[in-house]
Amino acid sequence: MALPKLEANRYSCVLPICKKKVEYRPFLVKEQKVLLIAAESEESVQANSAMIDMIKSCVYDEKEIDLDHVPMMDLEYLFIQIRIKSAGETADIGIPCTECEEVNQIEVDLRESKLEGELPNPKLELTETIGITLTYPSVNSIPEDSNPENTEDVFKMIGSCVETIYDGDEVFTRDDFNEKELMNFLDQFSVDQFEQLNNWFLEMPRFEQKINFVCSKCEASQERLLQGVSDFFE
Ligand SMILES: [Zn+2]
Repeated sequence: MALPKLEANRYSCVLPICKKKVEYRPFLVKEQKVLLIAAESEESVQANSAMIDMIKSCVYDEKEIDLDHVPMMDLEYLFIQIRIKSAGETADIGIPCTECEEVNQIEVDLRESKLEGELPNPKLELTETIGITLTYPSVNSIPEDSNPENTEDVFKMIGSCVETIYDGDEVFTRDDFNEKELMNFLDQFSVDQFEQLNNWFLEMPRFEQKINFVCSKCEASQERLLQGVSDFFE
């Protein structure tokens, strides 16, 4: 005898940056388990890839939406929406006090998480006439085995976000240059120009939530910033 199959509810939202409409279902107990295990590990790379796997299995038409190419900020937003529909609008998060280390159980309203900061201008001027336009990083621009300490990997990540290179009125798109030409172009950057480029990525806003509480044991005022899967799953 076949046991009954449970149908999941269907929800939709619009991704805030790429404006694509996404339909999704809540995550299931088996998926939640994987996320919890990943969040407990110290490796943020592991937590991130667990988050992405979970999103992909919950989103309908995942291939059509092309989640590998939507900005990471959109995925963080989607993650929070799925979390809300799966396990409620609030999360009880255990946060250790920075003064006495007492773990305080804080109820966080996930609807209040926001994209903090301004989106950087996609156009980056290098000289008076030469510059580049950039796309926001996606899963695709950060390969799973990449190491942020490795200069070569950082170059590849940056390179994958370059959309066009312009010189006055002349615009070169991705079809006009290959990987090697692009790397040679980046190699010519001065230290200042490279730092300017690196800052563009570092200043990228993220979905986050600031929480304030008073420690129940020592009464110290605490402020904490929640960011990413591991923070929301403590
Ligand atoms: Zn305390």
